[in-house]
Amino acid sequence: MRETAAGPRVLLRRLREMMAEAMEPQERLDRIVREIAQNMVAEVCSLYILRADSILELYATEGLNPTAVHLAQLRLGQGLVGSIAASARPLNLSDAQKHPAFAYLPETGEEAYHSFLGVPVLRAGRTLGVLVVQNRTQRHYREDEEEALETVAMVIAEMIATGDLARLTRPGIELDLSRSVSMKGLPFNEGVGLGHVVLHEPRIVVTNLFNEDSDQEMERLDAALSSLRLSIDDMLSRRDVAFEGEHRAVLEAYRMFANDRGWVRRLEEAVRNGLTAEAAVEKVQSDMRARMLHMTDPYLRERMSDFDDLANRLLRQLMGRGPDALAEAVPKDAILVARSMGAAELLDYPRERLRGLVLEDGAPTSHIVIVARAIGVPTVGQVKGAVSMSENGDAVIVDGEDGQVHLRPQADIETAYAEKVRFRARRQKLYRELRDKPSQTKDGVPVELLMNAGLAVDLPQLAQSGAAGIGLFRTELQFMVASTFPRVEAQEGLYREVLDAAAGKPVTFRTIDIGGDKVLPYFKGAQHEENPALGWRAIRLTLDRPALLRTQVRALLKAAGGRELKLMLPMVTEVDEIRQARAIIDREVRHLSRFAHHLPTSLKLGAMIEVPSLLWQLEELMQAVDFVSVGSNDLFQFVTATDRGNTRIAERFDPLGVPFLRLLRQIAQAGQAAHTPVTLCGELAGRPISAMALLGIGYRSISMAPASIGPVKAMVCELPLEALMERMEEALANHGAKTDIRAELTAFAREHDIPL
Ligand code: PEP
Ligand code: MG
Repeated sequence: MRETAAGPRVLLRRLREMMAEAMEPQERLDRIVREIAQNMVAEVCSLYILRADSILELYATEGLNPTAVHLAQLRLGQGLVGSIAASARPLNLSDAQKHPAFAYLPETGEEAYHSFLGVPVLRAGRTLGVLVVQNRTQRHYREDEEEALETVAMVIAEMIATGDLARLTRPGIELDLSRSVSMKGLPFNEGVGLGHVVLHEPRIVVTNLFNEDSDQEMERLDAALSSLRLSIDDMLSRRDVAFEGEHRAVLEAYRMFANDRGWVRRLEEAVRNGLTAEAAVEKVQSDMRARMLHMTDPYLRERMSDFDDLANRLLRQLMGRGPDALAEAVPKDAILVARSMGAAELLDYPRERLRGLVLEDGAPTSHIVIVARAIGVPTVGQVKGAVSMSENGDAVIVDGEDGQVHLRPQADIETAYAEKVRFRARRQKLYRELRDKPSQTKDGVPVELLMNAGLAVDLPQLAQSGAAGIGLFRTELQFMVASTFPRVEAQEGLYREVLDAAAGKPVTFRTIDIGGDKVLPYFKGAQHEENPALGWRAIRLTLDRPALLRTQVRALLKAAGGRELKLMLPMVTEVDEIRQARAIIDREVRHLSRFAHHLPTSLKLGAMIEVPSLLWQLEELMQAVDFVSVGSNDLFQFVTATDRGNTRIAERFDPLGVPFLRLLRQIAQAGQAAHTPVTLCGELAGRPISAMALLGIGYRSISMAPASIGPVKAMVCELPLEALMERMEEALANHGAKTDIRAELTAFAREHDIPL
């Protein structure tokens, strides 16, 4: 290849002219490949496009046999072209035929050519095709030639993405861009959502590809890079609490990347080749993303995401757009797709338009997931690659039951899901009909069904679900979604709102349960712990930091003026902790009454049973409190030494096993003996089969997610309780090697027509 004076710049200008001219898409492609071949002094230039069936089809060629166009095909991974597409990396070979991956396609007549340079056609990290030049002689293409071909490939990617080539496809054979993709993640919140993609951070679409003057453009790029660096330095120098810890580490990574010489050099090179600064950012990022898609190292993938964020910031600098200007109209059936997202950001979207949430990251206990659950949005997490595979407006289905995401689904999948949604809606209607019926078993025993809550957004569910009250109000959620400690007034405001919404129904407020995995980024006192679940958390932390507890208790006492106040302490390990907490509470009561505040009409103090050591202090415990509530999530985790957040062992031990059920029964019996009310508020309460088991061992009050009230009530209403109690008595008396009694419970339900 001879080096042309103007090189890629001239070529880009010619391409721009061709894109602007009105002509048939095939003609445009033919002229583009001819132009590239001429400009690069290559005898061959061919364009292969990836179809939805993973076949690369020859779409245009200069130099190869023209009758092979739309006939020559390679599978993804097959031959040199297939390998380039599969790896998203260029191949530069002086003797292509000696390469082990070389596959000879007789229809093309390419045997005459030795040297070969192929680059992937990439857009937003996805491979859409492969662009190749070939020469007869054996030669090695220079790096700048490779770079030039990549730049041209980017222009072609835009052409494919704008749908220009759709008219060249044969019926039933679509381009890969519109291929349906099913991705598997983890189900974080149940429910099924059908709708259209809204990228939480929409990719900025660069439409202005060609620069007029490279020097001027280089200045723009340099200026944008400098102000990007400055803004990062500025954020780092702020002594703002919001930028401590993890936030700071991310910013430091950004600073490092913004000064990364390799990255900056590639950006500059793309500008020199004739792209605008923003197109250069897009191109470099696309190359990187496509290559990283094949990496499995989680650390590197995380770094890639940092680079992505940085590139987006740079694009905003260049295009003079703040993040606000990016907010697009949210469709009526929005499915949010995000890498990760703050809990407060989710609440910024209009709830009535959200049908689902897809996250690349996230854990079942992460803040965003807790909030998504609270507002009832079907959620799937850990869906790697979701952001780069999706485009705004793509049709998508989120299945929060089995953790599937179907992007651009085929018609049969869509029909199946539409049926699933209709089925769920019918069931919901049934539950609504049950709502105002008394909650009692078939043999007339009343059962109290309470709901768990934690944010103001949960409150409408109290009336909608027909719950008898709030059995667990997780006060820490307000702290978790805030960016600084909520002030006493804000706390009081929320608690008052809760009590107002409850309108006389009982509410149990749990004092702040932070620590462990519930981290507050702005809380300075927390340190890294080896075993956070066993660490400085919940009541341990608040007894050490009494000001935190005092403030909260004051807010609660004031909010509950003239009404009943029920307070509950989390993670109690020793009865004496209750005495210490009570002393703090009493002091606040005295303080408020001294200032003639309106006090609650009664104050009841309870403890959660989550730590096994309490099981050997049950008598003393029942005397020390007004009520107890079993936190079966933590209790099960500690009794069986099974981390509740570890998906690998999540299914290993069954809480519906004899040992755990015996233990839960012991707690219920201790409560009855002491006349101390007992309730249970872990996840066990929310599934009909486990709720049934709880009733069978003596529980008469349970608290669960609002969406579970309907299904559990449907079970309660059909339950012959006495018969179940006898059956459970037998089952718990003796068991063989297999401890779980799930099968017995299911059989019982079947015999008695109980919906589970
Ligand atoms: C529990 O541990 O069962 C519980 C209800 O508390 P949390 O899930 O908030 O830890
Ligand atoms: Mg707990």
